[in-house]
Amino acid sequence: MEFVRGYSKKDDGSMYLSANGFDPENVSNRRRFFSTEGHDGMPVIAAGLIHGTAISVVDLKSPVYISETDALVTDKPGILLSLTGADCFPVFFEDPYAGNIGICHAGWRGILGGIVPGTAEALHTLGSDTKHIAVHIGSGICADHFEIGPDVVPFFESYKEAIHHIGTGDDKKILVDLKRIIRRQLTDTGITEDHISDANECTYCLEETYYSFRRDHPDTPQTQVAYIGMRA
Ligand SMILES: [Zn+2]
Repeated sequence: MEFVRGYSKKDDGSMYLSANGFDPENVSNRRRFFSTEGHDGMPVIAAGLIHGTAISVVDLKSPVYISETDALVTDKPGILLSLTGADCFPVFFEDPYAGNIGICHAGWRGILGGIVPGTAEALHTLGSDTKHIAVHIGSGICADHFEIGPDVVPFFESYKEAIHHIGTGDDKKILVDLKRIIRRQLTDTGITEDHISDANECTYCLEETYYSFRRDHPDTPQTQVAYIGMRA
């Protein structure tokens, strides 16, 4: 079993797919990107993201766009599971023993809703032993760049260790280390530290390389695409 995964860059163009109709330029950016990555002819299934916690189990008969889902899992080789992001973390799951893969879109709402452990659980339902699951945390917003308002702080009650209050007076800021929460959720499900790898890249910091929603505030979303697949 060979796994493939990737994340596009700003140079590849925007990969955003709107639920209200796809921008032809983005469709062509996607085609070019997947071809450059060496996946010509491989079906690509896209999750239509809503910052929710729904997880879809897909196969070769699934539609190419699945609306209102933030995670995709499969036990079938020969398909690419994809989703877009521009600060939210793409989290990739693979189990070489059972031959299962998954990907989820982890922004703060989805993280608090449990999309990350939910995806691990979905692999388990497909037959994965949790201790065989390897996870890669892709590029996403760092703790220095994810600021929240005081009104949002109570939602993070269970993750106080990830909240940083910095500065004083008018310079006061509340920052959240989302990746720290993702890591804790993963280890809480029984995935071992040595099975977690990390791109260690912030989409906001790396302005030349990545689109960042919080940095750019674009009128129309501009996003990278993340994908995972397996070859039999
Ligand atoms: Zn950053």
